[in-house]
Amino acid sequence: MRRSARRLSMAAFLVSAALCDASSARTLQVRPGREPQSRLTWTYPFTVDLSKAAAVAFDFRVGDLSEFSDFGLSFESGGGWYSLRFSPDCAKTRMCVNLGHARIEGSPAGWNSLTRMRLTAWRCGNGSTEIEMGEVTPVPRLLDAAPGERRTAYSHYSWGLTRDAHGAANTVRELKACGFTDYCTAVAYADVAFYRSKALRTSPQVDEKGDALAALLRECRRGGVKYHAWIVSFLASPPSSRKDIADELKRATDEGLMAVSFDGKVSGEWHCPTHPVNRSRFMDVVAEIAGLGVDGIHYDYIRYPNEGACFCAGCRERFEAFAGRRVDNWPKDVRSDARLAQKWKSFRCDTITSLLKNAAARVRGVDNGIELTASVFPAAGNAAWHVAQDWPEWISAGCVDAVHPMSYTQSVEMFGGVLRKEAAAADVKRIVPTLGLRCWQDDGRGVERMRGQIAELRAAGCTGFGVFNFEQDLLPALRALAASAAEPGVSGSRLRCPYPARRKPVR
Ligand SMILES: [Zn+2]
Repeated sequence: MRRSARRLSMAAFLVSAALCDASSARTLQVRPGREPQSRLTWTYPFTVDLSKAAAVAFDFRVGDLSEFSDFGLSFESGGGWYSLRFSPDCAKTRMCVNLGHARIEGSPAGWNSLTRMRLTAWRCGNGSTEIEMGEVTPVPRLLDAAPGERRTAYSHYSWGLTRDAHGAANTVRELKACGFTDYCTAVAYADVAFYRSKALRTSPQVDEKGDALAALLRECRRGGVKYHAWIVSFLASPPSSRKDIADELKRATDEGLMAVSFDGKVSGEWHCPTHPVNRSRFMDVVAEIAGLGVDGIHYDYIRYPNEGACFCAGCRERFEAFAGRRVDNWPKDVRSDARLAQKWKSFRCDTITSLLKNAAARVRGVDNGIELTASVFPAAGNAAWHVAQDWPEWISAGCVDAVHPMSYTQSVEMFGGVLRKEAAAADVKRIVPTLGLRCWQDDGRGVERMRGQIAELRAAGCTGFGVFNFEQDLLPALRALAASAAEPGVSGSRLRCPYPARRKPVR
């Protein structure tokens, strides 16, 4: 028999029907009764509007928790009730009960028409004890708790959530359901575009699936979501398009446009960041996209692959001009000679920074309202040394409006630690960390970890965050995040939302 159906027939101990409103704290006495297995209820007037709340929170203390097997909280509305169960982990705690999992009894009139609240305690003992319940207050949704916050979803796949341009409207609906304000899809690489481009080879997939940029921009505009075109700056193409651009890659290799490693190996995917042809094409792509009416341009792979590149003949020539001297033992001397090594680091950083400065001037000449952002390695000092991203300098020079550190660690503690160092290096309002949900090992705590990281970045003063990656199999976790309450320790919610195990990282 369902417990709710037994409510009126049970010989319960109706301790009090106090006249005070349930918003105030109270102590409830529990005394031995005739029947040890009984259900106790206390009912109070309650008229707080919970229609915008994700949960209710209250302090809760039980003298002897072993006297009870469970607790319930019900809200009367019109001709019915919303009923929830909750189980405190210890005798004195703060409860936060998620309203999203309420069971409906009868025909309630809505969370904005509440009349009474009922606390239910299921006894398993027959001793004397007491229950202390604090003020019951609404808890907003996590995402409503920071109005104006920017929340960017990234889709590595150019057409977004669905497989072609026809799905763009559905993608935007899902974005909004998950609480995202901004959307970013990868539409241009160094050798191929997923929109109709004059600056780059247009992917043959555009004929088959439609223009990714045009379709998503149109639907984002309709749905009130900002669209950012994501440029994968120095990477030739996504792996799935390599065969489509085989001719371009061969030509680029023959013309010396590809990056060369310290030991002389020519990359099959990375372009040399100093080569004038590569830089000029990057600028053309940026200018072309700026003319398409996008809300933002997002630079990714705006860097060297690592400290082991680029050592092509052109880089030697350009570095010697930068350093104002010959390098006799190329490339060994740039590592063994301390002064050259320092200059080499400056040269690499300058390569990327100067390109971004020129790009910003070009974009602002076309459309001054376009926002410029870049995915960067987390921790500024490491980013500059490892991949030549001197992003505090980019921020102070104004060539990007914000950086998006790829803070993909799964640990909330480490995420917070890195962020505090980043905030010491640059204006925290221009740091928009990207949470790496796609890259995490699934330990069943993805939503809880995102919540923890969001609390860290809000506490640090960030004005928003991003999530990598927005794709079909992560939607349950992202929806659960959007529905979750702004207070931690939610009881009865499904925070342990699973998501698929880690695949090979795609960025
Ligand atoms: Zn080079």
